[in-house]
Amino acid sequence: MQDRFGRTVTYLRLSVTDRCDLRCIYCMAEEMTFVPRRDLLSLEELDRVCGVFIRLGVRKIRLTGGEPLVRGGIMTLVHALARHVAEGTLEEVTLTTNGTRLARHAGELAAAGVRRVNVSLDSLNPDRFRTMTRHGDLAQVLEGISAAAQAGLAVRINTVALAGINEDELAELVLWSGARGHDICFIEAMPMGDTGQDRTAHYLPLSLVRNRLARRFTLNTSAHRTGGPARYVHCVETGQRIGFITPMTHNFCESCNRVRLSCTGTLFLCLGQEETADLRAPLRRSESDELLTAAITEALWRKPRGHDFVIDRNRPTLARHMSVTGG
Ligand code: SAM
Ligand code: SF4
Repeated sequence: MQDRFGRTVTYLRLSVTDRCDLRCIYCMAEEMTFVPRRDLLSLEELDRVCGVFIRLGVRKIRLTGGEPLVRGGIMTLVHALARHVAEGTLEEVTLTTNGTRLARHAGELAAAGVRRVNVSLDSLNPDRFRTMTRHGDLAQVLEGISAAAQAGLAVRINTVALAGINEDELAELVLWSGARGHDICFIEAMPMGDTGQDRTAHYLPLSLVRNRLARRFTLNTSAHRTGGPARYVHCVETGQRIGFITPMTHNFCESCNRVRLSCTGTLFLCLGQEETADLRAPLRRSESDELLTAAITEALWRKPRGHDFVIDRNRPTLARHMSVTGG
């Protein structure tokens, strides 16, 4: 699957639900209107679309959301996708989760063939965690992370760095995750969706975070890539990798290898643009995959060159929340 700029798309992020049991301040507003359940693609339909993407050349699928583990029956889809891994047509199925239900599912995820999970963790302080997620229980997430590690899943911690909110504990998060053998990846907050919060006040460029960390740790540039936009350094003191996802200060679009599918079957060709294609209609119009294949191939040709994110006062650059496309 090549687009008109010569980029090959091999990575599908699948937002299996836009719902979530948390309300992170940079991601959602307190009161959210979610997609009605009747508009969701069924798990069988999601599996079928994934099958077509795999035939077209997708090699990695990441399940995300919203919170993927709140979607009813999600393990059925994990097992269905894992069979492509067993057959060798897919390299891996991974998951990005907030960790609240990970303790319950870690064993089955590992048994199904999932090898890596990304878990979001923005603070190790229970009160701050509760404020940042608007009611989350830190202990539950930490238990989920331990269960994942015990089940043999490689865990990468994802942390959105926010000025004046968690910037003072980023080094501690490095130490905490490093001591447990987890990589950590810092993410710049992107202006997506109304969150009821002032984004400019909390925007923190990761160049600053990296400079601060470099005063405390020895950071060597690493060539490690996971196929995503993160750029890594190796931390000598802790032995872990520290990643930086910098959509705002460094545009990584020239090497973009991904597309995103929402739980209603909308294909997003760029996280930061409105270019989309509806896959639900071709999926439902015919039992054969021809229409679906044609719709995907046509859409790919419209993949934009790059995003236009700017932190502009309080206005989100995109009205759509990150939970629709899954980050
Ligand atoms: N609920 C899961 C979780 O939190 O990991 C998966 C979905 S969440 C949308 C995926 C990732 O996007 C998380 O690491 C989250 O921190 C990040 N994220 C959400 N909104 C964001 C924003 N506006 N800017 C940057 N990252 C964001
Ligand atoms: Fe939910 Fe993840 Fe968004 Fe937080 S970042 S509100 S956990 S979807």
